[in-house]
Amino acid sequence: MPDLAERLADVDARIAAAMRASGRARGEVTRIVVTKFHPPELVAELHALGVRDVGENRQQELSAKRDALGGLEGLRWHFIGQAQTNKARAVRSSADAVHSVDRVRIADALHAADPTGAPLDVLVQVNLTSDAGRGGAPTDQVETLAAHIAESCPSLRLRGVMAVAPLDEEPAAAFERLAAASLALRAVVPAATWISAGMTGDFVEAISAGATHLRIGSAITGPRPDRG
Ligand SMILES: *Cc1c(COP(=O)(O)O)cnc(C)c1O
Repeated sequence: MPDLAERLADVDARIAAAMRASGRARGEVTRIVVTKFHPPELVAELHALGVRDVGENRQQELSAKRDALGGLEGLRWHFIGQAQTNKARAVRSSADAVHSVDRVRIADALHAADPTGAPLDVLVQVNLTSDAGRGGAPTDQVETLAAHIAESCPSLRLRGVMAVAPLDEEPAAAFERLAAASLALRAVVPAATWISAGMTGDFVEAISAGATHLRIGSAITGPRPDRG
Protein backbone atom coordinates (compact mmCIF):
# COMPACT_ATOMS: atom_id res chain seq x y z
CA MET A 1 0.00 0.00 0.00
CA PRO A 2 1.41 3.40 -0.94
CA ASP A 3 2.22 5.69 1.95
CA LEU A 4 0.67 9.03 2.83
CA ALA A 5 3.14 11.11 0.83
CA GLU A 6 2.58 8.96 -2.27
CA ARG A 7 -1.21 9.13 -2.00
CA LEU A 8 -1.08 12.90 -1.53
CA ALA A 9 1.22 13.31 -4.53
CA ASP A 10 -1.01 11.03 -6.62
CA VAL A 11 -4.18 12.99 -5.78
CA ASP A 12 -2.39 16.28 -6.43
CA ALA A 13 -1.27 15.02 -9.84
CA ARG A 14 -4.86 14.03 -10.65
CA ILE A 15 -6.08 17.47 -9.52
CA ALA A 16 -3.47 19.19 -11.69
CA ALA A 17 -4.44 17.08 -14.72
CA ALA A 18 -8.17 17.78 -14.22
CA MET A 19 -7.51 21.52 -13.87
CA ARG A 20 -5.46 21.48 -17.09
CA ALA A 21 -8.19 19.55 -18.89
CA SER A 22 -10.72 22.17 -17.79
CA GLY A 23 -8.49 25.02 -18.93
CA ARG A 24 -8.14 26.29 -15.38
CA ALA A 25 -5.02 27.39 -13.50
CA ARG A 26 -3.95 25.09 -10.62
CA GLY A 27 -4.03 28.04 -8.23
CA GLU A 28 -7.79 28.41 -8.69
CA VAL A 29 -8.49 25.37 -6.53
CA THR A 30 -7.74 24.64 -2.86
CA ARG A 31 -7.32 21.03 -1.82
CA ILE A 32 -8.72 20.43 1.67
CA VAL A 33 -7.69 17.11 3.22
CA VAL A 34 -10.57 15.63 5.24
CA THR A 35 -9.02 14.05 8.34
CA LYS A 36 -12.15 13.00 10.26
CA PHE A 37 -11.79 9.87 12.43
CA HIS A 38 -8.00 9.96 12.02
CA PRO A 39 -5.76 10.88 14.97
CA PRO A 40 -4.07 14.29 15.32
CA GLU A 41 -0.75 12.63 14.41
CA LEU A 42 -2.01 12.16 10.86
CA VAL A 43 -2.77 15.87 10.61
CA ALA A 44 0.75 16.61 11.84
CA GLU A 45 2.19 14.28 9.16
CA LEU A 46 0.12 16.02 6.50
CA HIS A 47 1.30 19.40 7.74
CA ALA A 48 4.90 18.22 7.42
CA LEU A 49 4.09 17.32 3.79
CA GLY A 50 2.91 20.86 3.16
CA VAL A 51 -0.85 20.48 3.69
CA ARG A 52 -2.36 23.64 5.16
CA ASP A 53 -6.13 23.09 4.75
CA VAL A 54 -7.82 20.30 6.68
CA GLY A 55 -11.50 19.39 7.12
CA GLU A 56 -13.44 17.91 10.03
CA ASN A 57 -17.12 17.08 10.28
CA ARG A 58 -17.67 16.78 14.04
CA GLN A 59 -17.30 19.70 16.43
CA GLN A 60 -15.76 17.76 19.30
CA GLU A 61 -13.16 16.16 17.08
CA LEU A 62 -12.37 19.48 15.44
CA SER A 63 -11.92 21.22 18.79
CA ALA A 64 -9.80 18.42 20.24
CA LYS A 65 -7.49 18.27 17.23
CA ARG A 66 -7.12 22.00 17.02
CA ASP A 67 -6.21 22.10 20.71
CA ALA A 68 -3.71 19.27 20.25
CA LEU A 69 -2.12 20.83 17.18
CA GLY A 70 -2.38 24.53 17.93
CA GLY A 71 1.32 24.99 17.36
CA LEU A 72 1.30 23.96 13.69
CA GLU A 73 1.97 27.05 11.66
CA GLY A 74 -0.54 28.15 9.04
CA LEU A 75 -2.99 25.27 9.42
CA ARG A 76 -6.56 26.22 8.44
CA TRP A 77 -9.48 24.19 9.81
CA HIS A 78 -12.60 23.76 7.69
CA PHE A 79 -15.77 22.59 9.43
CA ILE A 80 -17.77 20.53 6.91
CA GLY A 81 -20.27 18.68 9.14
CA GLN A 82 -23.84 19.29 10.20
CA ALA A 83 -23.77 22.32 12.44
CA GLN A 84 -25.89 22.43 15.59
CA THR A 85 -26.88 25.75 17.14
CA ASN A 86 -25.84 24.66 20.64
CA LYS A 87 -22.33 23.92 19.33
CA ALA A 88 -22.00 27.18 17.42
CA ARG A 89 -19.69 28.80 19.95
CA ALA A 90 -17.31 25.84 19.96
CA VAL A 91 -17.37 25.61 16.17
CA ARG A 92 -16.65 29.30 15.82
CA SER A 93 -13.70 29.19 18.19
CA SER A 94 -12.12 26.21 16.39
CA ALA A 95 -12.92 26.68 12.70
CA ASP A 96 -11.41 29.07 10.19
CA ALA A 97 -14.23 28.36 7.74
CA VAL A 98 -17.65 26.75 8.18
CA HIS A 99 -18.93 25.10 4.97
CA SER A 100 -22.23 23.88 6.35
CA VAL A 101 -24.46 26.89 7.05
CA ASP A 102 -27.84 25.71 5.82
CA ARG A 103 -30.39 27.71 7.79
CA VAL A 104 -30.94 31.10 9.35
CA ARG A 105 -30.74 29.72 12.88
CA ILE A 106 -27.23 28.37 12.47
CA ALA A 107 -26.04 31.58 10.79
CA ASP A 108 -27.50 33.60 13.67
CA ALA A 109 -25.91 31.30 16.26
CA LEU A 110 -22.46 31.52 14.64
CA HIS A 111 -22.75 35.29 14.49
CA ALA A 112 -24.01 35.59 18.08
CA ALA A 113 -21.09 33.46 19.29
CA ASP A 114 -18.68 36.34 18.59
CA PRO A 115 -20.53 39.28 17.04
CA THR A 116 -17.57 41.68 17.12
CA GLY A 117 -14.84 39.11 16.58
CA ALA A 118 -12.62 38.50 13.57
CA PRO A 119 -14.78 37.61 10.56
CA LEU A 120 -15.58 33.92 10.12
CA ASP A 121 -15.65 32.56 6.56
CA VAL A 122 -18.91 30.71 5.89
CA LEU A 123 -20.47 28.89 2.97
CA VAL A 124 -24.11 28.11 2.33
CA GLN A 125 -24.54 24.34 2.10
CA VAL A 126 -26.95 23.41 -0.68
CA ASN A 127 -29.02 20.22 -0.63
CA LEU A 128 -28.75 18.68 -4.12
CA THR A 129 -31.01 15.74 -3.25
CA SER A 130 -34.79 15.62 -3.19
CA ASP A 131 -34.65 14.40 0.43
CA ALA A 132 -35.35 17.37 2.71
CA GLY A 133 -33.82 15.42 5.61
CA ARG A 134 -30.34 15.69 4.15
CA GLY A 135 -28.07 18.56 5.12
CA GLY A 136 -28.22 21.74 3.11
CA ALA A 137 -30.64 24.45 2.16
CA PRO A 138 -33.04 23.72 -0.70
CA THR A 139 -31.79 25.42 -3.89
CA ASP A 140 -34.72 27.84 -3.88
CA GLN A 141 -33.74 29.16 -0.44
CA VAL A 142 -30.09 29.91 -1.19
CA GLU A 143 -30.63 33.58 -2.05
CA THR A 144 -32.80 34.27 1.01
CA LEU A 145 -30.23 32.69 3.30
CA ALA A 146 -27.39 34.59 1.61
CA ALA A 147 -29.26 37.88 2.00
CA HIS A 148 -29.88 37.14 5.66
CA ILE A 149 -26.19 36.44 6.30
CA ALA A 150 -25.13 39.56 4.41
CA GLU A 151 -27.62 41.83 6.18
CA SER A 152 -27.92 40.41 9.68
CA CYS A 153 -24.66 38.60 10.45
CA PRO A 154 -21.87 41.16 10.01
CA SER A 155 -19.28 38.97 11.73
CA LEU A 156 -19.74 36.27 9.08
CA ARG A 157 -18.03 36.62 5.70
CA LEU A 158 -20.08 34.77 3.12
CA ARG A 159 -17.67 33.03 0.77
CA GLY A 160 -19.80 30.77 -1.43
CA VAL A 161 -21.65 27.47 -1.66
CA MET A 162 -20.93 23.91 -0.63
CA ALA A 163 -22.56 20.59 -1.48
CA VAL A 164 -22.19 16.83 -1.42
CA ALA A 165 -23.27 15.05 -4.62
CA PRO A 166 -26.22 12.68 -4.16
CA LEU A 167 -25.40 8.95 -4.32
CA ASP A 168 -28.08 8.13 -6.88
CA GLU A 169 -27.16 10.59 -9.61
CA GLU A 170 -24.30 11.39 -11.96
CA PRO A 171 -22.16 13.87 -10.01
CA ALA A 172 -21.70 16.09 -13.08
CA ALA A 173 -25.46 16.74 -13.29
CA ALA A 174 -25.69 17.50 -9.58
CA PHE A 175 -22.69 19.84 -9.71
CA GLU A 176 -24.39 21.78 -12.52
CA ARG A 177 -27.20 22.60 -10.09
CA LEU A 178 -24.58 23.69 -7.57
CA ALA A 179 -23.01 25.99 -10.18
CA ALA A 180 -26.47 27.52 -10.74
CA ALA A 181 -26.88 27.97 -6.97
CA SER A 182 -23.47 29.69 -6.93
CA LEU A 183 -24.66 32.13 -9.60
CA ALA A 184 -27.82 32.86 -7.61
CA LEU A 185 -25.76 33.44 -4.48
CA ARG A 186 -23.37 35.77 -6.29
CA ALA A 187 -26.33 37.86 -7.44
CA VAL A 188 -26.73 38.65 -3.72
CA VAL A 189 -23.06 38.70 -2.63
CA PRO A 190 -20.83 39.05 -5.71
CA ALA A 191 -17.61 38.33 -3.79
CA ALA A 192 -18.88 34.92 -2.60
CA THR A 193 -17.16 32.93 -5.34
CA TRP A 194 -16.15 29.76 -3.53
CA ILE A 195 -17.65 26.46 -4.69
CA SER A 196 -16.82 23.69 -2.21
CA ALA A 197 -17.47 20.39 -3.97
CA GLY A 198 -15.69 17.19 -4.88
CA MET A 199 -14.71 14.26 -2.68
CA THR A 200 -12.62 11.14 -3.32
CA GLY A 201 -15.08 9.71 -5.83
CA ASP A 202 -16.06 12.82 -7.75
CA PHE A 203 -13.44 15.54 -7.53
CA VAL A 204 -12.66 15.41 -11.26
CA GLU A 205 -16.33 16.13 -12.09
CA ALA A 206 -16.37 18.88 -9.45
CA ILE A 207 -13.34 20.53 -11.04
CA SER A 208 -15.08 20.47 -14.45
CA ALA A 209 -18.09 22.16 -12.84
CA GLY A 210 -15.95 24.97 -11.41
CA ALA A 211 -15.18 23.82 -7.86
CA THR A 212 -12.76 26.09 -6.01
CA HIS A 213 -12.43 23.96 -2.86
CA LEU A 214 -12.12 20.16 -2.94
CA ARG A 215 -12.77 18.13 0.22
CA ILE A 216 -10.80 14.93 -0.22
CA GLY A 217 -10.51 12.32 2.50
CA SER A 218 -9.87 8.63 1.95
CA ALA A 219 -7.96 8.93 -1.36
CA ILE A 220 -5.27 10.72 0.65
CA THR A 221 -5.62 9.47 4.23
CA GLY A 222 -6.41 5.85 3.38
CA PRO A 223 -9.50 4.13 4.79
CA ARG A 224 -11.02 5.78 7.85
CA PRO A 225 -10.67 3.94 11.16
CA ASP A 226 -13.91 2.81 12.82
CA ARG A 227 -15.84 5.79 14.07
CA GLY A 228 -16.08 3.98 17.44
C1 LIG B 1 -16.03 12.75 4.72
C2 LIG B 1 -16.40 13.91 3.89
C3 LIG B 1 -15.66 14.22 2.74
C4 LIG B 1 -14.49 13.38 2.23
O1 LIG B 1 -14.95 12.14 1.79
P1 LIG B 1 -14.00 11.10 0.97
O2 LIG B 1 -14.95 10.32 0.16
O3 LIG B 1 -13.28 10.31 2.01
O4 LIG B 1 -13.08 11.91 0.15
C5 LIG B 1 -16.02 15.36 2.02
N1 LIG B 1 -17.06 16.13 2.40
C6 LIG B 1 -17.80 15.87 3.50
C7 LIG B 1 -18.93 16.77 3.87
C8 LIG B 1 -17.49 14.74 4.29
O5 LIG B 1 -18.22 14.48 5.37
